[in-house]
Amino acid sequence: MSTKYVYTFGDGKAEGKADMRNLLGGKGANLAEMNLIGVPVPAGFTITTDVCTDYNKLGKDAVVAMIKDQVVAAVADTEKAMNAKFDAKDGFPLLLSVRSGARASMPGMMNTVLNLGMNDDTVKIVAEHSGNEKFAYDSYRRFIHMYGDVVMGVEAEEGKHNPFEVVLDEMKESKGYKVDTELTVEDLKALVEGYKAVIREHAGVDFPTNPWDQLWGAVCAVFDSWDTERAILYRRMEGIPDDWGTAVNVQAMVYGNMGETSATGVCFSRDAATGEDLFNGEYLINAQGEDVVAGVRTPLEITTIGSKRWAERNGTSEEDRKANFLSMEEAMPELYNELNTIQQKLEDHYTDMQDMEFTVQQGKLWMLQTRSGKRTGAAMVKMAVDMLEQGLIDENTAILRQEPNKLDELLHPVFDKAALEAATEISKGLPASPGAATGQIVFSAEDAEAWAAEGKKVVLVRRETSPEDLKGMYAAEGILTERGGMTSHAAVVARGMGKCCISSAAGVLVTGTSMTINGVEYKEGDFISLNGTTGKVYEGKVATITPSLDGDFGKVMDLAEKNSRMYVRTNADTPADAKAAREFGAKGIGLCRTEHMFFEGDKIWNMREMILAEDVEGRKAALAKLLPVQREDFSGILEAMDGFGVTIRLLDPPLHEFTPNDAESQAEMAEKLGIDVSVVKAKVDSLHEINPMLGHRGCRLGNTYPEITEMQARAIMEAACDLKAKGKDPKPEIMVPLIGTLKEFQIQEGIIRETAAAVFAEKGVEVDFMVGTMIEIPRAALTADQIAAHAEFFSFGTNDLTQMGFGYSRDDAAKFLPIYIEKGILKNDPFQVLDQEGIGQLVRMGCEKGKSARPNIKLGICGEHGGEPSSVEFCNSVGMDYVSCSPFRVPIARLAAAQANLKQN
Ligand code: ADP
Ligand code: MG
Ligand code: MG
Repeated sequence: MSTKYVYTFGDGKAEGKADMRNLLGGKGANLAEMNLIGVPVPAGFTITTDVCTDYNKLGKDAVVAMIKDQVVAAVADTEKAMNAKFDAKDGFPLLLSVRSGARASMPGMMNTVLNLGMNDDTVKIVAEHSGNEKFAYDSYRRFIHMYGDVVMGVEAEEGKHNPFEVVLDEMKESKGYKVDTELTVEDLKALVEGYKAVIREHAGVDFPTNPWDQLWGAVCAVFDSWDTERAILYRRMEGIPDDWGTAVNVQAMVYGNMGETSATGVCFSRDAATGEDLFNGEYLINAQGEDVVAGVRTPLEITTIGSKRWAERNGTSEEDRKANFLSMEEAMPELYNELNTIQQKLEDHYTDMQDMEFTVQQGKLWMLQTRSGKRTGAAMVKMAVDMLEQGLIDENTAILRQEPNKLDELLHPVFDKAALEAATEISKGLPASPGAATGQIVFSAEDAEAWAAEGKKVVLVRRETSPEDLKGMYAAEGILTERGGMTSHAAVVARGMGKCCISSAAGVLVTGTSMTINGVEYKEGDFISLNGTTGKVYEGKVATITPSLDGDFGKVMDLAEKNSRMYVRTNADTPADAKAAREFGAKGIGLCRTEHMFFEGDKIWNMREMILAEDVEGRKAALAKLLPVQREDFSGILEAMDGFGVTIRLLDPPLHEFTPNDAESQAEMAEKLGIDVSVVKAKVDSLHEINPMLGHRGCRLGNTYPEITEMQARAIMEAACDLKAKGKDPKPEIMVPLIGTLKEFQIQEGIIRETAAAVFAEKGVEVDFMVGTMIEIPRAALTADQIAAHAEFFSFGTNDLTQMGFGYSRDDAAKFLPIYIEKGILKNDPFQVLDQEGIGQLVRMGCEKGKSARPNIKLGICGEHGGEPSSVEFCNSVGMDYVSCSPFRVPIARLAAAQANLKQN
């Protein structure tokens, strides 16, 4: 049997269905599914994503030949379903939309051609049959523009205006028109000729008049759009593989611009910004879909509630609202009811929030698209909890459907109430994507990127955004636009990125490199603040605070905990971090780096004295001064994590990191020690290493200077005993870093246990404690069974393990890693996403060997990977007891741990 390349849909029948999204793309699969469940969809067909893959391999001609027969047959089916004729000589012509549609939604990233099939003959038939000549010629000129742009590559040259828009603007200017709707039939006819001339001039060939030529051109253009720069960039950011390809959806056109009984809109079954269970959206009467998305005309609200809320935010009186801004519910009540029923049906069917596009053609409602909607982190959490409570989804779905990384948005600062009240409000727009943003104004995406690269925080201010602005939007703290509604490009993309955005800000006028708000000028580099939750814009910087985390967030965390096998610890070096992490649900510390404590205040001088000491005696004298300081530090941390395990790592970094390297500090050091500055300098020079990461560090320090280990063990045990005596429950776990051989560990363990016994005898108090090690040198993973016979726990230090396993210096990798990722040599940065295939084997082996020698060994991870969802899943699969990550990633790791557990059961 020959391969099926084309799947038709229409008239309540479809060859595809929802679960075929890999083959048909998300849009195609859902167009088919909507047909099957009785939702009105214009008929059409989907060319599969496999054809796109073939297209990239075999080229245009081979692929067109391959699918030609099936496409011709599918067009015939569409003609029948719509009772119209493609390439018609008489009767109402079938006009087509040709749309992309990948497996994962990539809004606005790829190409769409509308009104395909129009030419000098069909336009006359359309004019005659619709009884609306203006509509016919308007559609025709839009088609030539779109086709010229998308298929023939006629666009604005560097620094120039779009040539089609130049023709349009000239026409409007010569006639004194302000808006497109003032154009007359004769104007539109002239524009058609003008646009054709633009194509001839810029593309060097004529605009194709044969509908079949048009169709093949558009289909191939959609395939080509898979590999445009912006589509590739979007895939990088969203982690979408390049080899998925896009499907092509060819569908009968329906028209929202056929007069006052026609309309078009975009709607959501729940609020994508807040998660509120409220149907909402925007529409325009007598318009085509592009007008809503492009943000050219500001659309109206679909529901009356939404409309009233809009009026309130906007300061529009009810009288004015009723006169000029009627909701669809008020203006087209019957169609609204039908739409409302459909949105409910679609949400129930997909059991998720739906993002839908629709068009009303002369009183008849058609759905053009549905998909599970992008949402902010806050909305994601609220929807999951609401849908669970409403019985729409079960607990597993509520957990699995959330994107752990999106929780990040909820953990970020919000504006301080008092600071906000004191701030000067300068404008108010639509709360297009919530959050708080403060930064310096920039007016172009390029500047946003460049300034952000310099470490500046910027707010991108644009008249409206387009897919070209993506990188800049990504780099900005927030986005402010002069135009556009809640479903404009800026709004949709910002919500997807979890970025604060305000659109249609009142009084804002953006002109090139400056902006005025109600007459006041704001220049590049000026600070402004955006509250994306209320739509208010403020002058200058406004202070922020950390948000509270109860309510729905708490419920999600409870659900996660209930469904996890692993628990989550945090990497924290201070009592404040420990406390913050505990509030986020950390159950212990997986890595407390003692060296970080030495950098605070005067402690560094004692440390330097120790390092610069001539002999053991000198070192001991300096360590004696450090002891009480360390004890104090440990006491604070153990107390903050009372009742939970605290893994404290002994001194790890190479000593030169603590030494005074500049002349001034060396002189200061010499004075403190009463020695000559040349002696200090000589000692510092002697600590210099060619390759310090592989040098005198980790347990190599403790094994060459055992008195350091002894002092640290003493400080820990004294702090623990004192807390215990006060009725607390300290649980220290002392961790020896950078073990490569068993003996290295054993000597350190001996010192720790002896010291502990001495402290217990002195204090008359005993504390339970553990001694274990980090597995971060490949040799330790390979000999983990020997080590586990003595170590009570392992913590996988996957930063060093990755560094040493790959042989990539972490400090130098920035020179080549980005290029490696670009060239596809590596899929991800292995310091961010654990390399499961390679380094993961070392981890797995370490766990297995560890367990073979000590079945109840405690296993955890403390590298950066402990807060990265795919790595957390891996840790679960190799049987770790916990993952440990930075405080702000704790909630993300908790959700990821639950997902890992559910996926593996
Ligand atoms: P995207 O993936 O960027 O959302 P779409 O394929 O949805 O692009 O197409 C963009 C717009 O074109 C839609 O929002 C819709 O308004 C319009 N459109 C697409 N197909 C049709 C159609 N069959 N009839 C009328 N308008 C259409
Ligand atoms: Mg769409
Ligand atoms: Mg290390």
